[in-house]
Amino acid sequence: MRTPNDLELVHLTKRYGTTVAVNDINHVFAPSTYVCLLGPSGCGKSTTLRMIAGHETVSEGGIILNGTDISRLPPAARGTAMMFQSYALFPHLTVRDNVSFSLKMKGVDKATRAEKAMKLLDLVAMAHLAERMPAQLSGGQQQRVALARALITEPRVLLLDEPLSALDPFLRIRMRAELKKLQRETGITFIHVTHGQDEALALADEVVVMNNSVIEQAGTPREVWGSPRTEFVARFMGGHNVVTFGGQRVALRQDAVRIAAGGQPATVTASVTGIEYQGDRVAVTSRTELGEEVVALVPDAAFFAQPINPGETLGLAWDEGRVHRLEA
Ligand code: ADP
Ligand code: MG
Repeated sequence: MRTPNDLELVHLTKRYGTTVAVNDINHVFAPSTYVCLLGPSGCGKSTTLRMIAGHETVSEGGIILNGTDISRLPPAARGTAMMFQSYALFPHLTVRDNVSFSLKMKGVDKATRAEKAMKLLDLVAMAHLAERMPAQLSGGQQQRVALARALITEPRVLLLDEPLSALDPFLRIRMRAELKKLQRETGITFIHVTHGQDEALALADEVVVMNNSVIEQAGTPREVWGSPRTEFVARFMGGHNVVTFGGQRVALRQDAVRIAAGGQPATVTASVTGIEYQGDRVAVTSRTELGEEVVALVPDAAFFAQPINPGETLGLAWDEGRVHRLEA
């Protein structure tokens, strides 16, 4: 159901010369949700985000926020704020002055600026480092300051372009939990661009999958992962085999494929091409008689009770109910 606070993209299009970076996309973002815009490099994620922020002009279509078309307004007048891919802070300003900078531009007095900046720094657990210079901070700390700097404008929508990509894997997982918490606490809509499906699944209330300048599928993480609409989504989200079954293209979860022990009925016969140990399970890749590759995820205990080697022939089985039809 639509509410007046929705952010709505209406036939939004961006062309660069003959390149169509974003092709006639329509979407309604519900308020107070964590949305991940997910897709491979070059599919139009950043362009979409920059158009919403006002850092890129719109070729066609509109962007409706809170009942008005903001697509021709300057960035500061939109009710959006953006945290950039490279969240460069002003190197000559303290943490606090970095955060309060936009208020200074608006002519807010010094005491009010300082008070608001400290409130935001407190929210991101950085108040104790308010007098530091950016060069004296770790990557994760700089990121928190950049977040506070974006939030001080009190946006309805916060736009984040690959905010975690510069962090090491350990910090990335910690920061993503912090982003999620911050979104819940502030109630602001977060639109977070990423090319990592695990990041999107972990964070999002809604995942919007883009491919080739259009939205391919949108839904909850469970809907998008569990019921991919197209072959692209099934492959991009991972964890699925895409095979031809009964004359149709279907997705079949890798954890739904069983190795049929001797004598048990099998759905197909296949020859093993690869074994990959993944800790709690083992990925057994094999090639069917039709020449299609099928991965079976076997729990580690079951695998090691009856180990399999590349080159062996085996039977693969699955319940027909687990076969998920894909749109062409
Ligand atoms: P993503 O963020 O998903 O990786 P982008 O939105 O950056 O993708 O780019 C989408 C498409 O638009 C790409 O083909 C890219 O080369 C093109 N593009 C992006 N920005 C510009 C630009 N300023 N000028 C020309 N082409 C651009
Ligand atoms: Mg990008």
